[in-house]
Amino acid sequence: MRVKRQKKNRRTVRFFTVCYGFRQPYKVLCDGTFVHHLVSNEITPADTAISELLGGPVKLFTTRCVIAELEKLGKDFAESLEAAQMLSTATCEHEEAKAADECLSEVIGMKNSEHFFLGTQDAEFRRKLQQESIVPLVFGLRNILLIDQPSDFQRQTAKDSENKRLTMTDTEKKLLVKRTAKIIASNRGEGTIENEEWGMPRVVSTRNGLGVKDRPQFKRNRAKGPNPLSCMKKKKEKLQSKSKADSNSGAQKEKKEGESDTKKRSRKRSKKGKSGPERSE
Ligand SMILES: [Zn+2]
Repeated sequence: MRVKRQKKNRRTVRFFTVCYGFRQPYKVLCDGTFVHHLVSNEITPADTAISELLGGPVKLFTTRCVIAELEKLGKDFAESLEAAQMLSTATCEHEEAKAADECLSEVIGMKNSEHFFLGTQDAEFRRKLQQESIVPLVFGLRNILLIDQPSDFQRQTAKDSENKRLTMTDTEKKLLVKRTAKIIASNRGEGTIENEEWGMPRVVSTRNGLGVKDRPQFKRNRAKGPNPLSCMKKKKEKLQSKSKADSNSGAQKEKKEGESDTKKRSRKRSKKGKSGPERSE
């Protein structure tokens, strides 16, 4: 039973990581009811328990408005207040304390761009958020923690955004036709291959030009300039030329470090030759 439940929970977390880009350490925003539940059911240390639930490291947050609300509840909630005060504070713009659910709805927002999970025992609040926000919801049931499964709204939004990524908009289509026509025209002008017999131009080459991505792309760190290990010997020379340049002008300081030696030197020299650094910019 326990394993089955955990599988279900992890599947929900995976839905949010895959479809919406939630990343570890997971940020969990806690309201007063949730903190109180953790404290009164002795689910401690809370971050360990929640990490186990989500299957990754977590960072727990609350807001000033939540703390203010706990303060108002008096000494029955003193222990919960103390626990809440130990959490990190997610910034809310409320000068005067708002009701906790209003405050949290605002901090999360519709798109939940900060990728918060929300812990609350308020079932109605959870239902409301499921209809209008991309937020995974965590709650306690006696001494176990659970995560609500993605709502229809959350699943549908994921589907819609995927469809959007996979299909072209009208403007993109027009642009594609225009660009391919241009490419064909330029090829014909150079007298290369006859394109007429191809009929429709090939789409593949223009894809990147349009910036259409059908998958998240990660930047690869490309080496800039030569392999630094292969130019160890030039170090002295580099230092000399650098000090020379420094004495001449401070303006050239914003050079990128990765630039090649030769490039650096030649550029400095040419600049010096054509126009001194004294020239007013
Ligand atoms: Zn607030």
